[in-house]
Amino acid sequence: MAEARPIRVALLGAGSVGSQVARLMHEHAEELAERVGSPLELAGVLVRDVNAKRDSDIPAELLTTEADALIHSSDIVVELMGGIETAKEYLLTALRTGADVVTANKALLSEAGNELFDVAERVGAQLYFEAAVAAAIPIVRPLQESFAGDRLQRVLGIVNGSTNFILDQMDRFGTSLESAMAEARELGFLEADPTLDIEGYDAAQKAALLASLAFHTLVTPEDVYREGITGVTSELIADAKSNGYVVKLLAIADRIEEDGQERVSARVHPALIPADHPLAAVHGGNNAVFVHAEFSGDLMFYGAGAGGVPTAAAVLGDLVTAARRRVLGGPGLVSTWDQRLDILNIAEIETKYLVRIEVTDAPGVLASIARILSDKGISVATLNQSASANPSRATIIIGTHRAQEASMRAAVTELTNSDSVFEVTSVTRVEA
Ligand code: NDP
Repeated sequence: MAEARPIRVALLGAGSVGSQVARLMHEHAEELAERVGSPLELAGVLVRDVNAKRDSDIPAELLTTEADALIHSSDIVVELMGGIETAKEYLLTALRTGADVVTANKALLSEAGNELFDVAERVGAQLYFEAAVAAAIPIVRPLQESFAGDRLQRVLGIVNGSTNFILDQMDRFGTSLESAMAEARELGFLEADPTLDIEGYDAAQKAALLASLAFHTLVTPEDVYREGITGVTSELIADAKSNGYVVKLLAIADRIEEDGQERVSARVHPALIPADHPLAAVHGGNNAVFVHAEFSGDLMFYGAGAGGVPTAAAVLGDLVTAARRRVLGGPGLVSTWDQRLDILNIAEIETKYLVRIEVTDAPGVLASIARILSDKGISVATLNQSASANPSRATIIIGTHRAQEASMRAAVTELTNSDSVFEVTSVTRVEA
């Protein structure tokens, strides 16, 4: 039976996600009140312009531009505005007034999460952000709570639906990068300015959050090595396929133990994964996060990584948790990043590679390439040679065993300077 005192909720933003949160709160009010033990009351909805034409059914009298008054009269503040500075200011105000906050804003968290968590801890308030990474897919709470008794070793995520859609079109239908991008734009997967998605910035913000959560250590987007998908060619997709791989833009977070010292690596780049790996089956705009934990083994979380309604569902889950805690009491979430592990530079990581090289079609060339690689400590696992469009050239595709990135970069420089090599066309990391 719901208790009498309603929990007052401020909604900051009434866009794709905010309008759906308001709708679901209204349509499922009774059920939510049962779950919380008290009704949830929408105290107001902050927007930029109360007179703007809107598709949502939010009652006009709830719309406001008075942030301070709304925040100060609420128990829980749900931030769905996006952006960094103003959202941060409002959430700090909310936390300082003792309100709990819910946000889906990965940009804000990856830039200012530490400051927000510090304030929350100081005042005893809670900060929930399940929707900030991969929207509807429950991954934040599992990393914070379900794995609290385990040790995570590796997180591999397909966390950007737009780039997954593009790479999937290229892989499954042989579409060029340009056409796949045009299709993604038409279907609403890409913003007018696609840089955040295409260049991997969005994925890097999520990688920073995943690594921070997985290894209880602060990782910022600047700590994340980042390459986008603009260098992915149809040729690379074909090479991947003929070697049993698919190309995915991965967010990768590793715990690396060496000489008794633990460090963390976080990176975002196109990577080859075996065609039978569970992540290879993540098609279209879907997201997935694959986790390898010391005790739990391998697990994968999969589903819609964006969209107003799925994201609103994750936000509502946080809202119910926050509201229940206000009604029933009880401890909050476990603290997030209390360890201070060092972050590896990309040059220090170790992985396998697939390398495509255009060479002179002459005796002794393969031996000289193998020598350059082995001088750098890189051992060859597979080698395929095919004719090139140019009769005096050949294309060789080398799969390596694990090697250090610095060694691979040094080898590429030497190969590029070698008389027998026309071009090192691509060097792609192989993961999983
Ligand atoms: P929208 O751009 O659709 O909506 C933003 C809303 O916030 C609008 O109602 C806007 O007001 C309001 N707003 C923005 N700035 C201000 C301001 N300074 N003062 C007052 N109101 C403001 O965003 P989304 O709903 O798509 O995204 C919201 C958040 O959720 C973002 O952080 C995003 O990263 C995150 N997210 C979104 C997902 C999605 O699929 N859309 C998926 C996962 C996370 P007005 O209506 O007057 O313009």
